[in-house]
Amino acid sequence: METSEISAAVRSAIASSTVVRGVGSGTWLHGGPVENDATATVVKPRGGVIEYTPGDLVISVHAGTTLEELSAVCAASGQMIAIAPYGSPRSTIGAVVATATAAPLAYDDLAIRDLVLGLTVVTGTGDIVRVGGKVVKNVAGFDLVRLNTGAFGTLGVITEVNLRLHAKPSMDHVVTGTLDGSPWDWVPRLIANRAPLPMQVRLAPDEPAQLFARCTGNGARASALRGIMQSYGVRNTFTLGPSDTSSADEQVPMITALRHVPDHALVLRIRTELSGGDAMLEHVRKLLPEATLLYNPSRGSVRVITDPGHEDDVLVEQLEMQFGRTPVNYSLVAEQGAPPRHDTSPIHAPIKRAFDPHGVLNRRRATFTPKPYVR
Ligand SMILES: Cc1cc2nc3c(=O)[nH]c(=O)nc-3n(C[C@H](O)[C@H](O)[C@H](O)COP(=O)(O)OP(=O)(O)OC[C@H]3O[C@@H](n4cnc5c(N)ncnc54)[C@H](O)[C@@H]3O)c2cc1C
Repeated sequence: METSEISAAVRSAIASSTVVRGVGSGTWLHGGPVENDATATVVKPRGGVIEYTPGDLVISVHAGTTLEELSAVCAASGQMIAIAPYGSPRSTIGAVVATATAAPLAYDDLAIRDLVLGLTVVTGTGDIVRVGGKVVKNVAGFDLVRLNTGAFGTLGVITEVNLRLHAKPSMDHVVTGTLDGSPWDWVPRLIANRAPLPMQVRLAPDEPAQLFARCTGNGARASALRGIMQSYGVRNTFTLGPSDTSSADEQVPMITALRHVPDHALVLRIRTELSGGDAMLEHVRKLLPEATLLYNPSRGSVRVITDPGHEDDVLVEQLEMQFGRTPVNYSLVAEQGAPPRHDTSPIHAPIKRAFDPHGVLNRRRATFTPKPYVR
């Protein structure tokens, strides 16, 4: 749909007291359920490139453009969108922005919010708002681009996205290996020594800890980065393959290890100061010994994948209590699972009212921020 058609759909939803929901390819709709989902009018922004200036490392696309299409267009000019490797090539860029999808090994540890320069958004009043711009330094005042990044379509349907690109490095490989001993031995070393090395550690019960790192650059840089990995005590190192995300097949081993999330699992993302990483892991481990943890030492975040059997809200409350007793600041986001029965965020409600006064857009945001971590 064109932006103007989405605006008209929002206006008619207001008139008929119904709701609309912005979607992309529909590959992850269960991740952020909304109220009245069954009765929602689905609005799907169109795809396609609006403007691409390789010399400026900037591209403007319609929000329905898939990551696969985007990769192909940029690769033809030796460029890339630096969030890769991502989950599904069918994901649309609008959804990636709406969910603030965090690629586990994003180039130079950049997050999608670092790459979005501007957005066109249809708000809950049907107004078409252009925020940000097309150049890197253009933010003055309140940053509405970042506000909409990760808002799950609760503040507006994203219809156009302006992105900052990066040159594709000549070498770009995912390297993996195992870590022996207790995490409390090597986590402090990972934090202290993190270097420009996007990393994830997978901690699963009864399995050796496995480290994944993205080694990029020319040959000298890539081998220096491998040397850093060895200094952490990583053993059995081997290269999984290129990080290039245009082929989902090549990513299979990494996707299996880092991406596979059972449909019914509850997935939480907890973030804290980098130096609080070991304390965070210890608390989560104590409360959920059976969970698989994906820890990112350079972002200070851990993704917690737990089995069902937990009452989602109860578990989140327990985690809040556990963390509430520690001196570290943290944020806790439910990435997948039943929506919370209550929204505990004191910040979200008034912002939602300002952008969506009639409550026609995605209504719920699975977020709990009792002690928000602000960087
Ligand atoms: C909380 C959460 C965390 C995730 N983390 C990761 C991750 O770390 N790595 C990863 O690879 N994948 C992650 N995903 C999946 C990620 O959303 C998908 O990879 C991809 O973004 C889905 O693309 P899609 O086009 O199929 O989106 P859809 O399944 O169509 O939509 C996904 C969500 O985005 C909203 N949405 C979609 N398009 C728009 C739009 N234009 N405007 C406003 N809202 C919109 C939808 O309402 C829905 O809530 C995550 C998903 C969720 C919900």
